[in-house]
Amino acid sequence: MEIERDVTKLRACRKCFVYDEAEADAANIDKYLAVIKKEDLVSDEVFEKRILICRDCELRMGATCNACGCYVEFRANVKTGRCPKKKWK
Ligand code: SF4
Repeated sequence: MEIERDVTKLRACRKCFVYDEAEADAANIDKYLAVIKKEDLVSDEVFEKRILICRDCELRMGATCNACGCYVEFRANVKTGRCPKKKWK
């Protein structure tokens, strides 16, 4: 099943904590996600599970994972994304 995802339309509900961060972070995340094929993105359900764990993680610093340096939203959106601390996969 192909997942139709327009990341610009998802921003309103998916960026709750990124909104508080620099606009540059949000622009970078959009730029990185824009080049990912739709089939390489996880379902909305998987994304939500992952990002909720990141949201409450003590290792998150704003939009970034302090354990790996990645944008958590980018990592949580892609099928190959993994939590470096194995909190989600
Ligand atoms: S990817 Fe893992 S370690 Fe990093 S912020 Fe998310 S839950 Fe925490």
